[in-house]
Amino acid sequence: MALNLARKYRPSTFADLVGQESVSKTLSLALDGSKLSHAYLFSGIRGSGKTSTARIFAKALLCENGPTSKPCQTCEQCVMANEGRHIDIIEMDAASNRGIEDIKDLIEHTKYKPSIGRFKVFIIDEVHMLTVQAFNALLKTLEEPPDFVKFILATTDPLKLPATILSRTQHFRFKKLPLKTVTSHLEYILDKEGVDYEINALEIIARSGQGSLRDSLTLLDQAIVYADGKVDTVTVTNMLGIVDPNSLSSLIDSILAKDKNAVLQFIEKYAQFEAEMIIDELTLFLQDELLNRKGRLTILVIDRFFRILADGKNLLSIGSNSEFVLTLTLFKMIEALNIHDIDAMINKLQNELSTVNTKTEPTKKSIETKPMQVEEPTPTYQQIEPKEIKEEINTETANVEEPTTPNISTTQKIDPTLLFKNLIEKIYDRNYELGEVFERNVSFISYENNTLVWESEAQGDDKKVLINGWNIIKLFVQEIFGVDTDIKPKKKLVTKKETPKEETNAPETIEPQHNATPQEIEQTNSCIMPEGKTEASIDKDPKELLNEPMIQEFIKCLKPKRVVVKQKS
Ligand SMILES: [Zn+2]
Repeated sequence: MALNLARKYRPSTFADLVGQESVSKTLSLALDGSKLSHAYLFSGIRGSGKTSTARIFAKALLCENGPTSKPCQTCEQCVMANEGRHIDIIEMDAASNRGIEDIKDLIEHTKYKPSIGRFKVFIIDEVHMLTVQAFNALLKTLEEPPDFVKFILATTDPLKLPATILSRTQHFRFKKLPLKTVTSHLEYILDKEGVDYEINALEIIARSGQGSLRDSLTLLDQAIVYADGKVDTVTVTNMLGIVDPNSLSSLIDSILAKDKNAVLQFIEKYAQFEAEMIIDELTLFLQDELLNRKGRLTILVIDRFFRILADGKNLLSIGSNSEFVLTLTLFKMIEALNIHDIDAMINKLQNELSTVNTKTEPTKKSIETKPMQVEEPTPTYQQIEPKEIKEEINTETANVEEPTTPNISTTQKIDPTLLFKNLIEKIYDRNYELGEVFERNVSFISYENNTLVWESEAQGDDKKVLINGWNIIKLFVQEIFGVDTDIKPKKKLVTKKETPKEETNAPETIEPQHNATPQEIEQTNSCIMPEGKTEASIDKDPKELLNEPMIQEFIKCLKPKRVVVKQKS
C-alpha cells in the first residue's frame, strides 16, 4: 500500500511550498504586480521544490482570475493545471530530450497561440542537459519570445549553463531544505495520515534525504510500508541499512573510555554493514555533537576524530580491506585521546612553574642593588676535573661515564629565569651565606644553547665566598640546567651611583689581585675562578677537596680504588 506521499502532498499553492519562502514571496509579488519576465530559471538540489514551484507558477499565470499569486483552484484552467492536463502547459525533460530536434519541435510550438489559456508556458526540466546546438537554437527564442510565451527552466546544475542563457533569464535559487524543516513536514504528513512515529526516526529519514523533500518523502513511504504500524528508529535504521544512533553513541562512549574490547564487539556486531557507511554515520554523529554542543567531546577531539574518519574514507576509496580500515580508524580515535590538548598542557606547565615561583619568592631579594664589575668566561666542569684530580684508574673504571644527569630536554622547556630562581634557592638551601652572596651579586642574563650567561658584581669578601662556593654553584647549575651547561659570566657595566674613580678602575682593581696567581692575573676580570689554580683551591686543604659534592658524586659513580689529589705544577 504505497501511498506516494510525494504526489499526495505535492504543494498546490505558494503557501504550501516547504522551505522556499523567499522564492515564493518574490514570485507572488511579480504575479500580483504584473511585473512578469518571459523566462525564469529555477536552480537547486533535486527535490527542493523547483518543479512544483514551476507548476504552481504556471497555474498562477493561467488562472481565470489571474495572473495572481493565489490561483483560485476551481476555474477550468486551475483544475486542468492541477490535474496535469493543461494543454498550454508544456513540460519537457531535457535529460531525455536533449538534442537539437527536440528543441526545434519546442520552438515550433512557441509560434502558435495558446489554445485556451492566457499564456503558453514551457517548463524545461534539467535544462543543463541540453546539447550545445540545442542551447544555441533555444537562445534566440528565449531572447525574444512571442508575448504569450513564458519559459521556466529548471536545473540542478546552473554552472553548466552557458552564460548567454543565464543572462536571459530571471534566476531563482532554491535552498537545500534544513533538517528541521523536513522533519517537521514529515511529522505534519504522518499526523494527517494518522500514522504513529518516533521523532528520532523521522530525523534519520530527513538526514538520509539530504535536504531533498521528495527523497525524504519517498523514504517515508517505504518506512510506512516497512513498519508495523509505527515508524520507529529500529525500522528506519534497518530499512536504510544504517547503524542505529544509540549504538553509535555507545561506540563513542567506548572510544572515550578507551575500551578496545567494546570497540571490537561493535565491529563484530556490525560486520555485515559497510565500513564506509559506518564512517559516514560517525561523521554525521560528530557533526551533530559539535552543532548541539552536547559537551561530551571538546572541539579539539572532534577535529581529530573528523580527520581520522576522513583518513579512513580515503583508505577505503583506494580499496583497502574495509574491516581492517574500520578497526584501524576506531583504534586511532582511541589513540587520539592520548594527546593532551595544548591548553591543558600549558595550564599544567603554568601550575608547575607557579609552584617553583612561590617557593623561591620568599628568599628573593633585589639583585641589582649596586653597579658592578666584571667577569669572564670560566672553564667548564669537565675541564676542572682532570686537572684537579688524578685518579689512578684501573681499566674497568676507565670507560665509566659521567654522573647521572637531570633530564635536560624537560628542563630546557621551562622559562630559564625560573630555573635561575630555583638555582638561587638551591644554593640557599645548601649554604645560606653563599646563597645570599650569590643572589646579591649575580643576575641572570640569558640561557640558550646550553649556555648560561649571568652578570656578576662581586668584590672583596663576596668574591671570595663565591670562589669558595664555586663547585657547589657549578654542580647545581648542572643539576638544574643540564650537565653540559656552560656558564658564561659577563661584565656588568657600571651604570650609576659609582664614583668615576671606581668606574675607571673597575676591571683592574679587584681585591684578590693582591694574592693572585699568575694565572689569575691573566684573567683579571674574573671574580669566580674555578679552575684548579684559583686562590680557592690553593687555599684549600687538598683533603677537603675530596668532600666537595661533585667529587663525591664522581667517587660514587666511578668507584675508583684510589683518588689522589695533586697540586697543579
Ligand atoms: Zn483559477
